[in-house]
Amino acid sequence: MENYRITVLKGDGIGPEIVDETLKVLDRAGEVYGFRMQYDFRLMGGCAIDAAGVPLPADTVEACRQSDSVLLGAVGGPQWDTMPGHLRPEAGLLGIRGALGLYANLRPAKIFPALKAASPIKQSIIGDSLDIMVVRELTGGIYFGERGRCEKDGVRAAFDTEFYTVPEIVRIAKVGFEMARKRGKKLCSVDKANVLESSRLWRETVVALSADYPDVELSHMYVDNCAMQLVRNPAQFDVIVTSNMFGDILSDEASMISGSIGMLASASLAGGSFGLYEPIHGSAPDIAGRGVANPLATILSAAMMLKYSFGLEAAAAAVERAVNAALESARTPDIFEEGYRKVGTAEMGALVASLIA
Ligand code: NAD
Repeated sequence: MENYRITVLKGDGIGPEIVDETLKVLDRAGEVYGFRMQYDFRLMGGCAIDAAGVPLPADTVEACRQSDSVLLGAVGGPQWDTMPGHLRPEAGLLGIRGALGLYANLRPAKIFPALKAASPIKQSIIGDSLDIMVVRELTGGIYFGERGRCEKDGVRAAFDTEFYTVPEIVRIAKVGFEMARKRGKKLCSVDKANVLESSRLWRETVVALSADYPDVELSHMYVDNCAMQLVRNPAQFDVIVTSNMFGDILSDEASMISGSIGMLASASLAGGSFGLYEPIHGSAPDIAGRGVANPLATILSAAMMLKYSFGLEAAAAAVERAVNAALESARTPDIFEEGYRKVGTAEMGALVASLIA
């Protein structure tokens, strides 16, 4: 039986509650599909500050490096908000991404049929289903380029630089092509090549690489048009690949099409099979400890881990089916609608686990 070693970072706030339910679902998927998960629990975020004085202890980084993948709940909370920037829980998030070389961020925007009514987009536009994957470059571009303050013509000024090397573009574009290959075989590369030189290099590089992926249909779109098309006709997209800043904005836009923050999963990959999987929401201190948090974003992040890190496609699909089936009858308070049973975190986790087949 295949055995996978997962470093588990429960984090703060609702983190421990939603991760505990996710592990139950993973264990059940393992029983049904014949694999075993071995968990190594480590500290990151506020809990690590309290226990070890830093948000990202060295042993946590080492454990992540030694494992097959990482599952993260969420970090942060008001009790650590007054700490200096480098000692805040969120510094652990940036630190772990850098330490593990996670350069590709995957954000699915998927509407579960049972939750169609929650989308802020008209049902006539969404159609029968919606399933977009945004692949965002995570460690380059303007967020990491040269920046500074200066003076121009006697007035104060500031600048940030969009900078990409060809190898950086190639490696993220490859993630996009490979992802499209595993899905609907359509890749849309988003840039601003009508204005930016870095975008022209981006486009040239993606076009050159496309020769290796004749089975994937490649298209290009300017970022402003893409922002508009995501609302006008989101169903046209399969996989979108783009730079750090454009991806930051577009992935938030695309993910909100699904209508609920408690449902949104994400993955960050380092090129090989290793990845860090986490919900996109935070630690929700306002509802922590009350047993009402929605565990589905974390459960769906774990499903991404099964698919993208371990190639366990059938088990991943079974988890997604179980989530949809659970939504047919039960809802946590954040997605509650009349006519459904209102359940807490543990009950939702148990229900999803019981529906895995
Ligand atoms: P948040 O995502 O934690 O919460 C925003 C709102 O959504 C809250 O009302 C919350 O109750 C609700 N919500 C979030 N997740 C939910 C879930 N699973 N089920 C039900 N409701 C849910 O964002 P915030 O309030 O801006 O931040 C709270 C803390 O989390 C801060 O310390 C912030 O820095 C941190 N944070 C961490 C991460 C991360 O760990 N990746 C991401 C974002 C924010």
